[in-house]
Amino acid sequence: MVTLKGKGVFGGVAIGKISFYQRAESTIKRYHVDDIDAELKRVEDAKEKALEELKGLYDRAVAEVGEANALIFEVHQMMLEDLDYQESIANIIKTQNVNAEYAVGTTGDNFSQMFAAMDDEYFKERAADVKDVSERLVRILTSAADGEVVSDEPVIVASDDLVPSETVQLDKSKVLAFVTQFGSVNSHTAIIARTLNIPAIVDIGADLKEEYNHKLAIVDGFTGTLYVEPDEETLSVMTRKRDEDLAKKALLQELKGKETVTLDGRKVNLYANIGNVADAGIALQNDAGGIGLFRSEFLYLENTDYPSEDQQFLVYKTVAENMAGKKVIIRTLDIGADKQIGYFDLPKEENPALGYRAIRICLTRYDVFKTQLRALLRASAFGKISIMFPMIISLEEVREIKGILEEVKAELREAKVPFDENIETGIMIETPAAVMISDLLAKEVDFFSVGTNDLTQYTLAIDRQNPKLDKFYNAHHTAIIRMLEIATKNAHDNGIWIGICGELGADLELTETFLKMGIDELSVSPAMILPLRKKIRETDVSKL
Ligand code: PEP
Ligand code: MG
Repeated sequence: MVTLKGKGVFGGVAIGKISFYQRAESTIKRYHVDDIDAELKRVEDAKEKALEELKGLYDRAVAEVGEANALIFEVHQMMLEDLDYQESIANIIKTQNVNAEYAVGTTGDNFSQMFAAMDDEYFKERAADVKDVSERLVRILTSAADGEVVSDEPVIVASDDLVPSETVQLDKSKVLAFVTQFGSVNSHTAIIARTLNIPAIVDIGADLKEEYNHKLAIVDGFTGTLYVEPDEETLSVMTRKRDEDLAKKALLQELKGKETVTLDGRKVNLYANIGNVADAGIALQNDAGGIGLFRSEFLYLENTDYPSEDQQFLVYKTVAENMAGKKVIIRTLDIGADKQIGYFDLPKEENPALGYRAIRICLTRYDVFKTQLRALLRASAFGKISIMFPMIISLEEVREIKGILEEVKAELREAKVPFDENIETGIMIETPAAVMISDLLAKEVDFFSVGTNDLTQYTLAIDRQNPKLDKFYNAHHTAIIRMLEIATKNAHDNGIWIGICGELGADLELTETFLKMGIDELSVSPAMILPLRKKIRETDVSKL
């Protein structure tokens, strides 16, 4: 048995086989092959596997984002079966005696260039799809060549590190736990693990070796310990710990349907943080009173190109409808820093956390911003949507945002497209600047939501992505508590409500402090809703 230590980012125990995350190869190697028939067979097998994957993706997409958005996976299946495409691959293998990956990659490039050069808009758009299909085939071919067993059972996903775009694309039903060599407890991958209720350990270091691939292991997210090839005794102790934890979680289920109210009658809105349509289901299962933060950028991260207005509209509408009249606060695009998206073509920056990100991108890329606002407003006709803007530092920004929002509303009115005329708008308080002018900002918006993850990073001058600094990243720092007090007072003095949607909101050690302060809403990972409800129901604010 090997015992490895890291930092636990979400409690819970998982027992299963380790599977190292296979990153798609960015460069395809070309090599000589003698057995042409074997190479053709590899292509055929990969094609069957890809078709199976695409069918699965189609079904999942129908459930998550509706049939119209799922159609693309049908188009991909048709492309794979296209005779010209298949003949081109076979020809390259036969005439050049080369490997399947190379033949698929070259065919993908050739077809994509051919489509891009066509006059017809429909075919032009297919250029990206044929590349996507080819990349899928290449990925299947390369992992098959690496001897990778694609597991049918859920596994413990191991990796050097996972960036958000990789994490969101994993099939979560196959993930028992995450364990990484690097990474910080405040990263978005850690946040996704909490949202999905998956035990996770980061920063284990180089001792997490690839040779552990496929070995049985235990993840103890409470203590940040990974046991590889556990002995009998550890296995039985940890199995008991897992079952006890599950039983405790089951007990919490009794709190479902109960009010979130203190012993002395103070009601608190307890909402969930989500990243996509499926998470809204998890929020409902955990009895969230609404969605306090929908990180809309995950929709952009899951895409290979800018999501269209209709595509976004469908997602926002689906979440609003699924939440059935409960409030859904959707945050506009918050990319940059650790959330990088290839098709945005953002320049490399020395200090990305202090760089071109979030609202700064929206206020220079009006096309992107207005498309999202139109989609959000249109969806507001189907449920109770609020819009929230991230990374605010000035009044000027807020006034410009409101101006743009009014423009989009006017366009929709003109086109007779229905939307909620009284849609609630708010801002995130996640920079010290926003706290210090919160009295002025409060006069411009309907609510504040404090993003304590970034507020801590910017107040303490500590990069939340840097695992070396976890020791210094003290979210309980008096400076943060005072900032929360300032923002809360200014919100209430100006008649607006204030919530917390950063990870600190779920910190049970601070629940009493937040209640005493008068925080109106806490938005947390779905799995934290019931524990927090329990804590709030046991608290008497008048006695604090
Ligand atoms: C925050 O900064 O606290 C927040 C909620 O936003 P994100 O974690 O997505 O940056
Ligand atoms: Mg933030």
